[in-house]
Amino acid sequence: MKRTIMDYDLNNKKVIIRVDFNVPIKDKKILDDNRIVMALDTINYAINHNAKVILLSHLGRIKTIEDKQNNSLILVKDRLSELLNRDVLFINETRGKALEDAVSNMKAKDIILVENTRFEDLNGKLESSNDDTLARYWANLGDIFINDAFATSHRSHASNVGIASILPNGIGFLVKDELDKLNILSEPKRPYTIILGGAKVSDKINVISSLAKKADYILIGGGMAYTFLKALNNNIGASIIDNESIDFCKEMLSKYKDKIILPKDSITSKSLNGNSVCKLNEDFEDDDIGYDIGLKTIDEFKSIIDKSNTVFWNGPLGYFEIEKYSNGTKKILDILSKTDKTVIIGGGDTASAAINFGYKKSFTHISTGGGASLELLEGKELPGIKIISDK
Ligand code: AMP
Repeated sequence: MKRTIMDYDLNNKKVIIRVDFNVPIKDKKILDDNRIVMALDTINYAINHNAKVILLSHLGRIKTIEDKQNNSLILVKDRLSELLNRDVLFINETRGKALEDAVSNMKAKDIILVENTRFEDLNGKLESSNDDTLARYWANLGDIFINDAFATSHRSHASNVGIASILPNGIGFLVKDELDKLNILSEPKRPYTIILGGAKVSDKINVISSLAKKADYILIGGGMAYTFLKALNNNIGASIIDNESIDFCKEMLSKYKDKIILPKDSITSKSLNGNSVCKLNEDFEDDDIGYDIGLKTIDEFKSIIDKSNTVFWNGPLGYFEIEKYSNGTKKILDILSKTDKTVIIGGGDTASAAINFGYKKSFTHISTGGGASLELLEGKELPGIKIISDK
């Protein structure tokens, strides 16, 4: 059992909490604040126990000066302050005198949000390569380190693993809840069904190989289905394809032919904005592009869901950002929301779809971590969790 924030006396202590505020932002608006909302329990607990709270997070990837301009955490600070209903002091640098002065002037219950940790990546990838000097600098700002950034826990960065290797440490409530809920899948009530979607097979090769052994059914939709269909010699027209994964798909289909269920039909179009039609696999023309699972596929997926007791889902079943290709993802969300089975939604796009389409409270768990939840299910140990001391 990992130590948690509750194992420490926080009174007047400077508590560095690594949160994951890597939220989608468009036109200076936060599109989905779930990751901020989910971090509130730990932050409130620390404040209620008289801690001085120093928040660290990354946002996006930082490779250029322009990335820096587009990925400041300042908008997050405003939303966080609203949600907490108290002031949050934003420090627009990741190290320096302003940060050090602000920290030394902190009183109990004060909150500081430090600028995007990945700004340090412009400086030779210091954050992402877990640079020791950077980790020591940040660790020096606090007394205790709490990892509440589940979605970053599969990475070994200075702001999580680096600081944790120096300071007394623990996990926060968000990470504890993720580990408890995802642990249900280590001994799932059967039949156990995995739904996989998203654009590319290559991103999910490890998870497909490892989950295929454990699951009773694997329902494949989204862009990745077309590489599987191609591996069975279907004409997939001009649909998205991942050529280097065809051999892998063939191997999976021959090993697990009774478990893997592929779409029978798709919502197709000649272009993203063209007219859309539902077509069976055998009716695809060379210029048809499959953008969503079709109606027969939804029915077949439903019949498997109906006989399952546990479902894990990662990856949207169509180009769900466009309304007319979101039907498959929405229908499956709706079907799952009406069952009393264990349903766990992996993070990333599937979590955003579930929340934005109104299903936030409908499932056993919606993970905040896409890559992290997949790696955990593959059986990998997450470095950000491994480094935290046991009780
Ligand atoms: P991933 O990051 O691999 O989970 O992929 C998510 C992306 O896959 C989303 O942006 C979806 O729009 C996209 N996607 C899902 N189905 C399709 C499809 N049939 N064709 C193209 N992109 C798709």
